[in-house]
Amino acid sequence: MTGAIKKCHVTIIGAGPYGLASAAYLEAAGVEARVFGEPMSFWKNQMPVGMCLRSSWSASHIADPKQQVTLDAYCHQNGNHVSKPIPLDRFVDYGQWYQRTLVPHLERRQVARVDLDSGGFRVTLADGEEFLSRRVVVATGIGTFASRPAEFVGLPLELASHSSEQNDLRKFKGQRVIVVGAGQSALESACLFKEAGIEVEVIGRQKSLRWVGLHPKLHHLGALSWLLYSPRDVGPAGISRLVSMPHLFRRFPRQFQDRTAYRAIRPAGAGWLQPRLVGMPITLGRRIVSAKAKGSQLHLNLDDGTERLVDHALLATGYRVDVSRYEFLSGSVSQRLETVGGYPVLKRGLESSVPGLHFLGKPAAWSFGPLLGFVSGTEFAARELLYCFHHRNGTR
Ligand SMILES: Cc1cc2nc3c(=O)[nH]c(=O)nc-3n(C[C@H](O)[C@H](O)[C@H](O)COP(=O)(O)OP(=O)(O)OC[C@H]3O[C@@H](n4cnc5c(N)ncnc54)[C@H](O)[C@@H]3O)c2cc1C
Repeated sequence: MTGAIKKCHVTIIGAGPYGLASAAYLEAAGVEARVFGEPMSFWKNQMPVGMCLRSSWSASHIADPKQQVTLDAYCHQNGNHVSKPIPLDRFVDYGQWYQRTLVPHLERRQVARVDLDSGGFRVTLADGEEFLSRRVVVATGIGTFASRPAEFVGLPLELASHSSEQNDLRKFKGQRVIVVGAGQSALESACLFKEAGIEVEVIGRQKSLRWVGLHPKLHHLGALSWLLYSPRDVGPAGISRLVSMPHLFRRFPRQFQDRTAYRAIRPAGAGWLQPRLVGMPITLGRRIVSAKAKGSQLHLNLDDGTERLVDHALLATGYRVDVSRYEFLSGSVSQRLETVGGYPVLKRGLESSVPGLHFLGKPAAWSFGPLLGFVSGTEFAARELLYCFHHRNGTR
């Protein structure tokens, strides 16, 4: 019954920081949009209970057009104190308050499929509803892109899990655990294990640990600090400023962009983790070359010839963007999508090679730089999305 099918102007898929911010900006600009997703679900369900944000206060506001729904406003209006570093549960609560305040029309429903249709897209929801949308904004985050080292593929979840598959690490009480990785997620998870009385060792490939935020005084040197650091807080001195300007950043040669992006976001722990890691067994410069089930345990061989027998390996091994893994994108959409290394190639308005299909958040990082992988990129992304409506009147 195509005659009766509903139509809408824009569909936003995702209710994390990017989906919410873009919904708020479109609403303020008078653009009609349907918004789908579970508010802050990735943060709530796929990050460890007890975690704190690595990003600073200034870099953790979800952008809103009037700058009134900030973390400060959240504290003020709800009488909530939020400590620094920002605890995960507070940030989730802030995001949900943001949603209730600015995106009350959010639909907590899953998008199952996006197909091409004349004049735009046919969107199918998991509950069966279908409608047509002129534009689709994909803001579904990195949850789908968990990267598991080849040695661990095929092992049961009880023996090896990706960090995104765990929520409450205290359930490993009484077990011996290995954390694989040496970035913030690995180091913080290891601290949470240790603090819960769980025996833990960290094994990482890099030769030494790297830290961020060890020199807070550098942020209080007036004009000099302003020149070196953007409040968006992605990357070290100098790079921080450059990546905070995605339009400038993307003009540089590709090789420079790639090297600078890596330098901005390479695995590193927040300085405030250091005292919590005292006494932690950490093995660096080593690879795990095999991982096999041995009875109810996991047997690991390292490239230095040593072995470990543990109850569980937590793989804090990051995420690898590959938009072909977004199951809701139909074959006809995926085939027309120009990608590089799994990232969609985007132009102004964060629009892909499929006209009217936009990508926000980390998938936009190949085209617009590492800022787009963080909450502090929400303002740029939401404003950039509006570009389409200001310059093309939202039509295709
Ligand atoms: C352990 C960890 C710590 C981090 N710490 C920080 C930090 O301190 N600061 C920082 O800036 N960034 C941090 N990040 C990065 C963080 O993931 C991103 O900044 C942020 O989540 C990007 O928001 P997003 O809106 O793109 O995606 P997400 O927050 O992942 O939101 C995705 C949304 O899409 C919805 N969704 C997915 N599929 C569908 C579907 N088919 N239909 C409908 N809805 C769907 C989900 O329900 C969810 O609402 C961290 C990441 C990890 C893994």
